[in-house]
Amino acid sequence: MERIGIHVGCKGKQSVPALERLVGEVGPALGCNWVIVEVNGFFAYQSHPEAAEPDPMTAEDARRLKKIAADHGIRLVPMYNCLGHQSWKDKPGALLRAHPEFNEAPDADTSAEDFYCMSWCPNHPDINPLVFDLFDELLDAFEADALHVGMDEVFIIGECPRCKGTPNAELFAKAVNDYHGHLVDKRGVEMQMWGDRFLDGKATGYGLWEASENDTQGAIKLVPKDIVICDWHYEIMDEFPSIRIFQDEGFRVWPAGWNKEQSIRRLIEVARREAGPNMLGYLATTWTDVDGVVRGLAGEEIDPENERLKNVVAGVKLGLRLARE
Ligand SMILES: [Zn+2]
Repeated sequence: MERIGIHVGCKGKQSVPALERLVGEVGPALGCNWVIVEVNGFFAYQSHPEAAEPDPMTAEDARRLKKIAADHGIRLVPMYNCLGHQSWKDKPGALLRAHPEFNEAPDADTSAEDFYCMSWCPNHPDINPLVFDLFDELLDAFEADALHVGMDEVFIIGECPRCKGTPNAELFAKAVNDYHGHLVDKRGVEMQMWGDRFLDGKATGYGLWEASENDTQGAIKLVPKDIVICDWHYEIMDEFPSIRIFQDEGFRVWPAGWNKEQSIRRLIEVARREAGPNMLGYLATTWTDVDGVVRGLAGEEIDPENERLKNVVAGVKLGLRLARE
């Protein structure tokens, strides 16, 4: 498999030592050749300082990470989560804290049991110019030739007065096309994103996290085919039909697993069986503290009570090993 990757989070300055070990030591030892770092607000943006979380990493940190990664044969990709995931439950990230006017559903009951994450409005006239400045800073600091725009699990869409009445597939596609216009057409870099909103939950059998139940799936026909789709699936299933679907639509697909052994094994089996020229490899996701992940991958002691971390570390090791075979 061509791309053997790891996706990790980042909490700013405090995560930099672990990230350096990941791209300079731990990742290469596992045969990893791509690392996606989910930066979001944890970067000291000069163009919009208000969009940065406290104690962010700096451009200098990013340049050093890039150099270490390059010296060890790793392509390092910064990620900025767009559209959805602008809060964790009722706690907005830096962007919506500073710019509440971008909130797609400011009147939503964020204290409700089933409330997940806030979204920004893809039709707000000021959102893209601001976000493109952030993209540019990340691309320049990381000297990156790709950027991951996230866009998974967008549950709040089509609710504000600007968006209401437009089909969700068109709203979602507009956002994708806007980011593509800046990243691919203007900056000439690769655009990566999660694939779940392009999948029809009913037709594929995936649940509401891994596929769309809010009618965004039609967007798959409305966006450019040169986007790399990170096709994440974490549940145990016999089939993962999206690996075929994305390739049939003309996209490059990068299947991504997480923390369940049986799911990872089957996902990679299906990826190999369905592999055409547009099947890129395997991407291990982590969704937990990067320090713990790096310690665990290095074989160092991790909290034995932390089941989540243990399973993630085991999952990354398994997935990368199978992908290398
Ligand atoms: Zn809107």
